Amino acid sequence: MIFDNPRILIVDDEKMNLKVLADLLKDEYVPVLARNGDQAIQHALSETPPDLILLDVIMPQMGGYEVIKYLKNNDKTKNIPVIFVTALSSIEDEEFGLRLGAVDYITKPFSPPIVKIRIRNHLRIIHQYKLLDQLAHLDGLTEICNRRRFEEEFKKEWERSLRSGSPFSLAMIDVDYFKQYNDHYGHAMGDLALQRIAKALSDVLRRPADFIARYGGEEFVMLMPETDHEGAMQVARYSLKKIADLNIVHHHSRAADYVTVSIGLSTIHPAIASSHKTFLATADQNLYRAKEGGRNRVVGSVIRGETVLPLSA
Ligand code: GH3
Ligand code: MG
Ligand code: MG
Repeated sequence: MIFDNPRILIVDDEKMNLKVLADLLKDEYVPVLARNGDQAIQHALSETPPDLILLDVIMPQMGGYEVIKYLKNNDKTKNIPVIFVTALSSIEDEEFGLRLGAVDYITKPFSPPIVKIRIRNHLRIIHQYKLLDQLAHLDGLTEICNRRRFEEEFKKEWERSLRSGSPFSLAMIDVDYFKQYNDHYGHAMGDLALQRIAKALSDVLRRPADFIARYGGEEFVMLMPETDHEGAMQVARYSLKKIADLNIVHHHSRAADYVTVSIGLSTIHPAIASSHKTFLATADQNLYRAKEGGRNRVVGSVIRGETVLPLSA
């Protein structure tokens, strides 16, 4: 198996055709069946979308061409690969189908082993694409999300908090006296410390929507959607404790004799909120105040009384 239980949506108005393909695939995949275009689209939009779609062309009401046009025009479904399985066997038909965005074109009557091999090949390509996509969003040193992924997540959660109106908190975390650490213990030890810090901070986060990324250098950022100031302060204080518990010896820090971090926190109540830029900048300013105040501490504030602006503003 290439990845866990791939779901294959089979769309055909002929019951017999559905059965033949489902029987062919059921040992390796999870077949999901649709008798018409409407059902196919509903499956594709559902919480458990298929990994691949086998699509008949000629069906009453909504035909396969219409279905694929719909799928390719919708952000949620446009990346699901579609293979036409059809009795239309002319070269023109095939070209037309492929031009609409299908990854492959199989004519009926088909050879069962060839159908299986083609499906396996396409699933392998998707799997590799997904792996590459993941790698592009991970930080190479710490293996947590990178800045690029953060930008995407921040946009998503910001817009969600505007819609829901629930409080949203953000923490900027910066390692204290880290230049000194590198200077005295070497860059390799510095790298190791960053890896351990990233792991400890990831372990602090408990809720599924919580998010952490390496923001750059020795700086990390945490997103805590649906979390008020009090809750975020708790997470931040717990983060300080987890970093202290790592007990990474640092005799050249003026904050402690182990590696510490400073945290700037910002909480926004979107109903009376500000722009995402103010939200981020406030966390940054608070980080600066935490440094000024002696490091190894949290400074937080709540933003109130400004207009809500969309992230793109
Ligand atoms: P402060 O307490 O004010 O934050 O002081 P600092 O020394 O931590 O801050 P500064 O910005 O002066 O130095 C950051 C250091 O972090 C310098 C840089 O070499 C180190 N650093 C950044 N990225 C990496 C990395 O990937 N690996 C290692 N080993 N060090 C890094
Ligand atoms: Mg630092
Ligand atoms: Mg820094």
